Amino acid sequence: MSDDATLSNEGVGCHAGADELRRAAEAAGNSDVLQRLATDYPTGPHDQPQTMCPAFGSLRVGLRMRRTASVLCGSACCVYGLSFTSHFYGARRSVGYVPFDSETLVTGKLFEDVREAVQQLSDPSKYDAVVVMNLCVPTASGVPLRLLPKSQNGVRIIGIDVPGFGVPTHAEAKDVLASAMLRYARGEAEQGPVQAPRGGRSEQPTVTLLGEMFPADPVGIGAMLAPLGLSTGPVVPTREWRELYAALDCAAVAAIHPYYTASIREFQKAGRAVVGSAPVGYDGTAAWLDAIGAACNVAADKISAAKNAFLPAIKGAMSKAPIDGTITVSGYEGSELLVARLLIESGARVPYVGTATPRTPWSDADREWLESKGVVIQFRATLEQDKAAVDAVKPDLAIGTTPVVQHAKEQSIPALYFTNLISARPLMGPAGAGSLAQVVNAALGNQARFDRMTAFFAGVGEGDTAGVWDQQPTPRPSQGKKPTSRSGSAKPQRKGPTAGG
Ligand code: SF4
Repeated sequence: MSDDATLSNEGVGCHAGADELRRAAEAAGNSDVLQRLATDYPTGPHDQPQTMCPAFGSLRVGLRMRRTASVLCGSACCVYGLSFTSHFYGARRSVGYVPFDSETLVTGKLFEDVREAVQQLSDPSKYDAVVVMNLCVPTASGVPLRLLPKSQNGVRIIGIDVPGFGVPTHAEAKDVLASAMLRYARGEAEQGPVQAPRGGRSEQPTVTLLGEMFPADPVGIGAMLAPLGLSTGPVVPTREWRELYAALDCAAVAAIHPYYTASIREFQKAGRAVVGSAPVGYDGTAAWLDAIGAACNVAADKISAAKNAFLPAIKGAMSKAPIDGTITVSGYEGSELLVARLLIESGARVPYVGTATPRTPWSDADREWLESKGVVIQFRATLEQDKAAVDAVKPDLAIGTTPVVQHAKEQSIPALYFTNLISARPLMGPAGAGSLAQVVNAALGNQARFDRMTAFFAGVGEGDTAGVWDQQPTPRPSQGKKPTSRSGSAKPQRKGPTAGG
């Protein structure tokens, strides 16, 4: 880190804004990092979506891995938020933190502190890997994690930059760490023998599944792969370091989540074929089995056997649980297009799908299928675009992120939170077809309840019933009726132009 660079970063902080942080990072010699992030995770044509701190994605991946220490290097407020959120989501491991102040940042002592923390943590009896994550300010200041030792006492050291001004979504930050681990593991496998998976190596060729999914889905996918003479490999991001070797040692990679650009690059460097989309619904499963069969050189009769075994069951599950309604879908998980496919095959009308993740070649099959059904797809969707879609479509159900759900419910439109209610159930094969319909139909049936609630709370939190008031409310003149809080018992003065907190 040059003196010029460090000095230029004095005063750079969380509130500096993305452009200033980006300029500082370039001045600190981190242009190559930013260039790579911009290539892997393009933000255009729309602005960066509004999601949680992107570093949460990589932190979550690190915290879910056995024998892996996750260390954050960033501002205390960022680390507080990230550690709070990760424990809110049930992390069972500690979050490491290397704090800094302007002096350690400017003098380069922060890097020494990180190196010391890594040294102290590198206990091979406890850890396979130590992951250090540079947040916004250390990335902007050019804290050079690439100069950390590659390993210490046999413990692998991985340093990544996951700045909010370079990684657009927390989904893509998962890819930043997953790909760094795959790259490291690929290098190890090229050097010589590596650890086998905990349960031993599969006797059949495997298909690695890319992207987090509901735990029953890999099992369901495994059943569909069996007639092809294949089995499921690990799900990436993996839960343990040794699974990375098994993930690389596959016949093909199923990019269930299509935004893992850097991880896909690592698989391709290892010579693995990559297949997009997923076995969702009838058409999706048929096309996916064809694509996986072709990628793994499976004979046509085996592919037909798999289709004959599962497609009728999927059709049967969907016909037993049809969905009748107009639904908008938006989210930041990367599986939005798959969910929309399943909804449409189940009978729903889905005019709009918004996803915070970018368009990639691995979502093309889903995009083309949806567009052929007249669906408008917005990649890198902003909250405003998702809300505008709800306003324009006035759907029977809005599936979306928290603020989209709130926006819909304020208008008496039933809504489901994507992450908690859609991602928390199977999507693939026959199990997915029936399961999604269950939650969606229950929500669609809530319209009357919403109408009752809206009528009951009419006027609450709006106009005179919202805001900050500069004096005690005074009762209105009696109109022969006992005033209640809902009917507006007072006429206070609103303070200032703003309402609420
Ligand atoms: S690290 Fe995350 S919370 Fe902190 S400034 Fe960057 S984006 Fe915001």
